[in-house]
Amino acid sequence: MKVAVLTGGGGGARFLRGLVDAVDPADVTAIVNVGDDLEVLGLSVSPDLDSVVYALAGLADEERGWGRADETWNALASADAFGGESWFRLGDRDIGLHLVRSQALRAGEPLSQVTSRLAAAVGIDPTVLPATDDVLRTWLETPNGTFSFQQWFVARGHRDPVDRVRFEGAAAAHPAPGVVDALHNADLLVVAPSNPYVSIGPILAVDRIRRALERRRIPCIAVSPLIGGRAVKGPAAEMLARMQSGTSPSHVTDCYEGLIDALVFDEADAVHADAVAARGVRPVIARTLMSDADARRRLAEAVLDATAVA
Ligand code: GDP
Ligand code: CA
Repeated sequence: MKVAVLTGGGGGARFLRGLVDAVDPADVTAIVNVGDDLEVLGLSVSPDLDSVVYALAGLADEERGWGRADETWNALASADAFGGESWFRLGDRDIGLHLVRSQALRAGEPLSQVTSRLAAAVGIDPTVLPATDDVLRTWLETPNGTFSFQQWFVARGHRDPVDRVRFEGAAAAHPAPGVVDALHNADLLVVAPSNPYVSIGPILAVDRIRRALERRRIPCIAVSPLIGGRAVKGPAAEMLARMQSGTSPSHVTDCYEGLIDALVFDEADAVHADAVAARGVRPVIARTLMSDADARRRLAEAVLDATAVA
């Protein structure tokens, strides 16, 4: 069963770890958000791509939720001491990857090609693709001003309420090589339990990716990132409350109008099943908290089981 997954770097990356325990890892393609990408200290950083690669390679720091395990912070401390920027936390091991990517990008290698080299270097079998090789950047419009994603998320601690999300460069962005093929050749499309606005939104802002989902001939199943109306982590609930007027599974469904056939959401939200069904999307109730490897695999299996009847 070939599965193509649209994903960010948090809940999405955890979901992918479960998925590769439930299907042949070589049959999995992750299509990853690049709207969070940025340059820090002259380095090209792709946080979601790296989270996915680190998670699949077993290198991620599970407690912190981002970056690498066994990390040290000497380079950043030194940069700070010399008056360099230190607001965006980059660990020493992480910087090693950024050095390799930055050099390759400067030499003209596309992001997708660099990513595939990095994934091969750590020996992972799933295909990891950026949604696009073009520059696509997420901006947040808030009552306190318009901010780039990392300014809003990291520097300002995602405290500013968001009125609108914009994707700079999206209109001209092409899907990275392999993305459209992966969507067409898949037996199942999955929208990971990622933030609909700032993780999945930038991917869907690439017109040919959105169209591939709209015209799908195979099921597309989304997994809700909210449990009991709350995000497990991050600002998804606040964003839905403000921009979708609610945080129930039906509000998550509304983020993906015309794009999904089923929504997998938590038992805690079972009472909302009818409201999801009323939108023409099949409600699938499961345990969606990915607390350990078993829970991750079981959630992936719930998605695969849902396919059988989707
Ligand atoms: P980001 O790039 O780090 O923002 O990552 P994602 O967008 O992929 O993931 C963030 C989302 O994952 C948040 O909205 C969380 O609520 C969700 N999430 C994290 N852990 C879990 C989990 O165990 N279960 C579910 N259902 N969602 C989760
Ligand atoms: Ca992200």
